[in-house]
Amino acid sequence: MSLQELLEHSRRYGSDPAFVLLGGGNTSYKEGRTLFVKASGHALGTIGKEGFVRMDLDLLDQIWHKQYSQDDEEREDEVLKDMMFCRLEGETARPSVEALLHALLPFPYVVHLHPALVNGLTCAQEGEASVHRLFGDALWVELVKPGFILANIVRERLVEHQAKTGKVYSLIFLQNHGIFVGGQSLGEIEQVYAKVLGTIEAQLVRKPDFTDLGADEVKVGQVMDVLQAFGKEKVLFRNTVEFKRILADRSSFAKVSSSFTPDHIVYAGFKPLWVDEGAEVKKAFVQFEREHGSSPKIVCVQNLGVFSLGEKPLPLFFDTVAISVYSESFGGPRFMDEAMINFIRNWEVEKYRSQVSTS
Ligand SMILES: [Zn+2]
Repeated sequence: MSLQELLEHSRRYGSDPAFVLLGGGNTSYKEGRTLFVKASGHALGTIGKEGFVRMDLDLLDQIWHKQYSQDDEEREDEVLKDMMFCRLEGETARPSVEALLHALLPFPYVVHLHPALVNGLTCAQEGEASVHRLFGDALWVELVKPGFILANIVRERLVEHQAKTGKVYSLIFLQNHGIFVGGQSLGEIEQVYAKVLGTIEAQLVRKPDFTDLGADEVKVGQVMDVLQAFGKEKVLFRNTVEFKRILADRSSFAKVSSSFTPDHIVYAGFKPLWVDEGAEVKKAFVQFEREHGSSPKIVCVQNLGVFSLGEKPLPLFFDTVAISVYSESFGGPRFMDEAMINFIRNWEVEKYRSQVSTS
């Protein structure tokens, strides 16, 4: 098999918003003791050969015998340096932070995606129980810091499971994040994805309704003008059947009022701004900035609609709403906790990812 085949599958998954949005998700394959894994900051949908980094699997193994700092920032720094050292000669790109996980899974191919349907399960109150009920031999990983900590936990669970059952997990669900599938071929992985999505879909009691709705154009124009003054990026507006439900009052909005996954934080901000009907948008915006040290990227005005500062936050907000609706079939939504949201907001890896994607 070849890198060419991996490229084709990566582009196909990457261009389908049902699987992944913007810079999310990554893929890999192994040839002998070489790992080809996606570089950070490349979008799967348009990825070319230069979007993959070649790494030495034997050197990557040695990472597990090392001691790293207890401090988050120092540890991530040390691990990144070691990962850069694991690249084959001549490689200049920075490997995906999930490269460690790709290296661990003993399959020639690994495809990691963030499908909204799957996250309807991983971001649900009954996510873990539902995964075990629907996908017997799958690994569920609770909310843990991504990168080294996550990979290390998966590594321990793989060893434990193999000792107990002689089997290797090929299907891994990560709470508030997404899914990893390993396989002997890309065709096999494709079948697993179809089965997983079909199984979840069959459980749904309701799907989001994104039929477009009109809105009071004068009011929309006024809010647009206010928001346009805050940034250079174009302000977009949308209203849909589902948005209308959410924007009825604060309690209906609560279901989409925080972050489900790191992608949402990186591209749409750690939470949307809510503005009461009739309240001053400018005042609410400035207060958000003062309170949180960052600007909102999504502004939700009660009984009017959703404003996006720039093009990127909007699809992620649609994703938030979709995940929230899907999660209703599994006990209701569960956001990342505050500590994890703060970790991601300050994580150098995600700052790098959002910089590369905007430049
Ligand atoms: Zn991911």
